[in-house]
Amino acid sequence: MDDCIFCKIAAGKVPCNKVYEDKYTIAFLDINPAAKGHTLVIPKEHYETMTDIAPAVMQSLSLSLQKVAKKVHDGLLADGYNVYINNKPAAGQVVMHAHFHIVPRKHDDGIRIQWPQKRYGPGEMEDIKSKVSGAVTGNDRG
Ligand code: 5GP
Ligand code: ZN
Repeated sequence: MDDCIFCKIAAGKVPCNKVYEDKYTIAFLDINPAAKGHTLVIPKEHYETMTDIAPAVMQSLSLSLQKVAKKVHDGLLADGYNVYINNKPAAGQVVMHAHFHIVPRKHDDGIRIQWPQKRYGPGEMEDIKSKVSGAVTGNDRG
């Protein structure tokens, strides 16, 4: 992907503050952090969203994500951390190369990740459950 900023970072064509790298993964500091140490973990290969990522890459990326989260948490003496990913513009994705955010947290740091809670109507939970559990995904192939 010639015009993808994260492909350029993964290829070393654009500089970044790299904190971790392995065969499939690179992790670097977010340029506009929610908290100092906010880190992005990305597959080196271009995939738009998490569900586009090839299963073997996702397996490796998951372990790298866990490793980097521990490095961020322990290295910065954080009290906690959030891991999240925005998939597609409706969910807030701006850079269309899949990436996980790791945000180190401190007690009372003023960061709010929250939403107004909703309620299900009668029978609605069962209907939603059926739609979700009945959806067929590529990964069902194994
Ligand atoms: P999204 O909203 O797509 O989940 O988040 C994109 C993130 O990438 C943002 O937090 C933004 O600050 C970060 N970002 C965008 N461009 C660059 C860049 O060139 N370098 C780095 N290190 N981070 C970037
Ligand atoms: Zn890319």
